[in-house]
Amino acid sequence: MSLPGIDATRPHAEIRLDGQPVIVLADAALRAILDDPHYLGRVAYTPGTRKLVARLVAFVLDRADTFALGLHGVKHPAHLWMPVVLTQAHGHWQRVHIEYPACAACGWRGPIANPTEPSLYFGAPEERQALLRALALPRTGCPDCGAALDRHAIWAGAAHGPEPT
Ligand SMILES: [Zn+2]
Repeated sequence: MSLPGIDATRPHAEIRLDGQPVIVLADAALRAILDDPHYLGRVAYTPGTRKLVARLVAFVLDRADTFALGLHGVKHPAHLWMPVVLTQAHGHWQRVHIEYPACAACGWRGPIANPTEPSLYFGAPEERQALLRALALPRTGCPDCGAALDRHAIWAGAAHGPEPT
């Protein structure tokens, strides 16, 4: 199962997000970049960032009904893609940072999707507006006890397997 707008018969979808072109990879393309980082003339990771990107790919593939992985180009260096985890909020694509905070009230710990990490928007033409839009998104609480989380989460999920380190 995939998110709306992702056609599994095509390797990727091209969207415009915060004024920036972003490639959204379908599952097959996601698996393929784990073997070969080259995609449309850029690389999705270097030897130094492979582990990090592989972890994001695994996270997204585990939850393909909620998350997708996007790639956007950076000016420098021009051969690199910048991977970004995407979800849908109110019918729009939204960049999110996956974090593993703990609930101060009950001790729950698991993944959350935080749209307010400023680095998500670096280089996007609508960087400032995008961050302001993200800050206005409704926050979700702890999935176990409902208490407010310290971090701005628009999604909080059960931990699947060991937490990334
Ligand atoms: Zn809690």
